[in-house]
Amino acid sequence: MIQNITVIGSGTMGNGIAHVCAQNGFKVNMVDIAEPALQKALQTIASNLERQVSKGTIDETVKNTTLQNIATFTDLAGAVQNADLVIEAATENIDLKLKIFRQLDESSPAHTILASNTSSISITKIAAATQRPAQVIGMHFFNPVPMMKLVEVINGYATAAQTTQAVLEVSQKLGKIATSVNDYPGFVANRILMPMLNEAFYTLYEGVGGVEEIDTVMKLGMAHPMGPLQLADFVGLDVCLNILRVMHEGLGNPKYAPCPLLVNMVEAGHLGIKSGIGFYDYTAGAKASIVAARFRK
Ligand code: NAD
Repeated sequence: MIQNITVIGSGTMGNGIAHVCAQNGFKVNMVDIAEPALQKALQTIASNLERQVSKGTIDETVKNTTLQNIATFTDLAGAVQNADLVIEAATENIDLKLKIFRQLDESSPAHTILASNTSSISITKIAAATQRPAQVIGMHFFNPVPMMKLVEVINGYATAAQTTQAVLEVSQKLGKIATSVNDYPGFVANRILMPMLNEAFYTLYEGVGGVEEIDTVMKLGMAHPMGPLQLADFVGLDVCLNILRVMHEGLGNPKYAPCPLLVNMVEAGHLGIKSGIGFYDYTAGAKASIVAARFRK
């Protein structure tokens, strides 16, 4: 039975995953490369818990127990000594992930399941870096983790059925709805989302509509809570480009080729919210459209 969970990486996704695991009664070891990252993550978790208390969704006792359930580590080997499940949410870089999984395989007990929160890297490839590919799986959470219900559980080529079952059960205990899918580029979520975003980029690039028009059509016509261009700014245009490239290369189909406008914007450093500018300008705080001329072919 899974009781102890180690989360690798304490950034945007890692601190959210640690928060949700700890709030649902698991003992969590949260790992990052340096102490300041861990302290920042603990502060983020505390302030998110405080918001839940002020909304009345949890009480002070749950908040305090959640924080008590989290221990922090900069030493990966020490953090996995008692782990039943490891959820890796470190930076999206294949060489880094392969290195971490080799270390996890060496340092974790034999029964430990090793999961990755990767958005685009092959689970089968990550599993092949270990001596326990049957116990390696994808657990793809969505941002912000405490709010988003879905966990896309990804079965690598060698993932055992009991590994999938154990991870589906944990996801349920976290209050999430989990779907079990197979490991091909983009999995299901990005396989469908990214071509839609790419088509929105092409629609703008070819001058069919402007930023506001494209987002308005999809919000009001398709009942999407956010238009595709605003969503791309939120995800990060560099992340969109990277995932499209993985799908284009991995699936070998030209329909996934990233729109040249997206490539240009990433090269210009216009990455969306994180850089202050993307399809919208966030530098003044409020959301505002950027002049259409920026999007000329
Ligand atoms: P992030 O940059 O916010 O955080 C990554 C963290 O990993 C950093 O704190 C970094 O210091 C740490 N790290 C790097 N090397 C490490 C190591 N060797 N050991 C321990 N920690 C290490 O990134 P993020 O947005 O949280 O993304 C993490 C993972 O989640 C990526 O694989 C990404 O593809 C995936 N993901 C992200 C989102 C999203 O919306 N941000 C959504 C789903 C999945």
